[in-house]
Amino acid sequence: MNAEILKDTFGRQHTYLRISLTELCNLRCTYCMPADGIQLSPRSHIMNFDEIYDIAKLFVSHGVSKIRLTGGEPLVRKDVEIILRKLATLPVALSMTTNAVIIDRYIQVLKECGILNLNVSLDSLDSEKFKILTRRDNFEKVFHNIHLLIKEGFSIKLNVVLIKGVNDDEIVDFINLTRDIDINVRFIEFMPFDGNAWNKQKLVSYSDIMAIVEEAYGIERVDRIKDAPNDTSKNYKIKEHKGSFAIISSVTNPFCDSCNRIRLTANGRIKNCLFSATESDLLTPLRDGQDLRPIIQKVMQSKFKVRGGMDTLEKLETPNLHEKNRSMITIGG
Ligand code: SAM
Ligand code: SF4
Repeated sequence: MNAEILKDTFGRQHTYLRISLTELCNLRCTYCMPADGIQLSPRSHIMNFDEIYDIAKLFVSHGVSKIRLTGGEPLVRKDVEIILRKLATLPVALSMTTNAVIIDRYIQVLKECGILNLNVSLDSLDSEKFKILTRRDNFEKVFHNIHLLIKEGFSIKLNVVLIKGVNDDEIVDFINLTRDIDINVRFIEFMPFDGNAWNKQKLVSYSDIMAIVEEAYGIERVDRIKDAPNDTSKNYKIKEHKGSFAIISSVTNPFCDSCNRIRLTANGRIKNCLFSATESDLLTPLRDGQDLRPIIQKVMQSKFKVRGGMDTLEKLETPNLHEKNRSMITIGG
């Protein structure tokens, strides 16, 4: 195994591949999907299941030990079961990020493929607010499915993107879910992407969140707990609670030093960073029978030290910099 091609110029070894299976989604989250929708790639430009497997296998043979499937919504892909079963034959930890709207149909397959760790997105515990945030009326279904997953023994991280004036009044309600249930609620700072109307005023920062938590529970009840290696989140626990909570502060406290992630979009492009404005096509050369390794190595060599080159908050706030990037729906989170 030659892991060198997945090392960047800052010595970061990349062992974690996130594969977006589709640009399609059954929700329309305002912070992710632009109001006017997106220009979808032609169907023939989307990787088929063999191509996904071939590219994944190549990465695994160069040191990738963890693959997360994402989207769009990965489960809306008709052939998702085939993809899961093929990827499950690789020697990797497989996981998925999902909105859980239709996950009840896939419980058995997920178990058979050893996908027991899931990140589930839910931004509000209020069905009306959920409808506004996702532009769809699916709260009951998602909430029911989250409980079903817990009952079936899945380990759940709940992703909550916080937007000021929209759902920041629910921080304590979300943490209260961890009192009796062993889940990890992860508050994610709202990030700027093409078409998501981001501005700094909408940001609920790491320090804003901690101030609310300490006010609600008292500082002595809030324990800082150990983060997993290469973890993007800072983890905490309210003393007597079964579960925990975390903050992903990509905007105010980027965690790029320990970054080990590479992203593959549904149309077969590799991105060396979530915030990167550039990407390289792997699908066309794969279809042409070319060796992908020099392309991958070049992409890794061009990775910036911090956030695709937007190393300050000022740069992140400069619209023409982050608007050169894709919408989140076509990157995959
Ligand atoms: N559809 C699946 C879901 O919602 O979990 C997977 C794809 S979604 C793009 C992956 C993750 O990105 C979700 O947890 C979502 O909340 C997060 N996300 C999307 N747009 C974001 C943004 N602008 N800022 C922060 N997180 C975002
Ligand atoms: Fe779909 Fe997930 Fe984006 Fe929401 S966050 S629109 S569920 S891809």
